[in-house]
Amino acid sequence: MANQEKFYLTTSIAYTNSAPHIGFALELIQADVIARYNRLLSKDVWFLTGTDEHGSKIERKAKEEGKNTIEFCDEISSQFKALKEALNLSTDDFIRTTDQKRHWPTVQAIWKILQESGKIEKKAYQGLYCVGCEAFITAKDLVEGKCPLHNKEPETVEEENYFFKLSEYQEPLKKILENNEIKIIPESRRNEMLNFIKEGLEDVSCSRDSKVLSWGVPVPDDESQTIYVWFEALINYVSALGYLTADDEKFKKYWPANFHFIGKDITRFHTLLWPAMLLGLGIELPKNVFVHGYITVGGKKMSKSLGNVVDPFELVQKYGTDLVRYFLLREISPTEDGDFTYEKLTERYNADLANGIGNLLARVVTLANKIFNSKFLISNQFLNPNFKTKTENIKKEYSKFLD
Ligand SMILES: [Zn+2]
Repeated sequence: MANQEKFYLTTSIAYTNSAPHIGFALELIQADVIARYNRLLSKDVWFLTGTDEHGSKIERKAKEEGKNTIEFCDEISSQFKALKEALNLSTDDFIRTTDQKRHWPTVQAIWKILQESGKIEKKAYQGLYCVGCEAFITAKDLVEGKCPLHNKEPETVEEENYFFKLSEYQEPLKKILENNEIKIIPESRRNEMLNFIKEGLEDVSCSRDSKVLSWGVPVPDDESQTIYVWFEALINYVSALGYLTADDEKFKKYWPANFHFIGKDITRFHTLLWPAMLLGLGIELPKNVFVHGYITVGGKKMSKSLGNVVDPFELVQKYGTDLVRYFLLREISPTEDGDFTYEKLTERYNADLANGIGNLLARVVTLANKIFNSKFLISNQFLNPNFKTKTENIKKEYSKFLD
């Protein structure tokens, strides 16, 4: 099929500081639905996921557990990889940012282009750094002097860093989001980003002193600096396609991404920083960014300290893949926060799958056996024309909602 339409979609890459939880399972399953749907429409689909494995947080975590950093990453990354089977995902590829053969060459090539064109420059800097976010944060982000996401006071960091000139892209980014050139779903997230742009975009640090951050991709031709984790992680979406390498067939075929699936906490990175980097490179922008909410457990944020982190492997083992997929898609709003409890899961199982859909299927099969003597015939002569119109309308509506 020479003229087959391509469709490239990605999930965010999971940070390998801890094992997978159901929040990421939700993102994978949502993206999987869209991947499968587009394959049904006969598109040439490429579906990417992977793991984000650099940063001082991971290095520290490995040390705490008495492990070699790469061994620690191998372990966690393989758990994320195993979600494919557990959740019955149709992913085509899995990228790791510690992959020096696949990821690093593209990262360093991009860096050089942006540096040569003056989009990346070195300067002295003093700023507030949240180790939890692995990011510099501004004073206006703080709530009572603390990072609201991590409830931690940021460190004041003074160093010489490379900066990416995000401020130069303020006007282009505003237009791009206003015109839906990159469509952010839901609309409320787009408005959030437009408001953020209005407050003014500042240049962002895109490297750190390698004495502070050694677990990462080195800045080309400058050993004193390591590329900032976020800056380099975003590049996975094109490094996995071989962009700027000898083997760039996939990049030529699949880029730009039709969909990036992400969680709400990383919207800025994906709808401001990433598009600005792509503008700097002069390559096409992703078409859609789909932002899902958080999953709470019994109304509380999932956290290790509360001991309420829900393990998707355990859920699948206990209830089966289909129920977990069904529950996350049916019970949790695709774009808003949703709540998980075992009671809700059991309720859905009994009410929807056992009594509702399960019962209907059992009745249809029984009836079909009785009437057609075990031969299931699909033929227009058996269809009431009203019924036919109705089912066709449902099919159209289904496509409309998925589109
Ligand atoms: Zn933080």
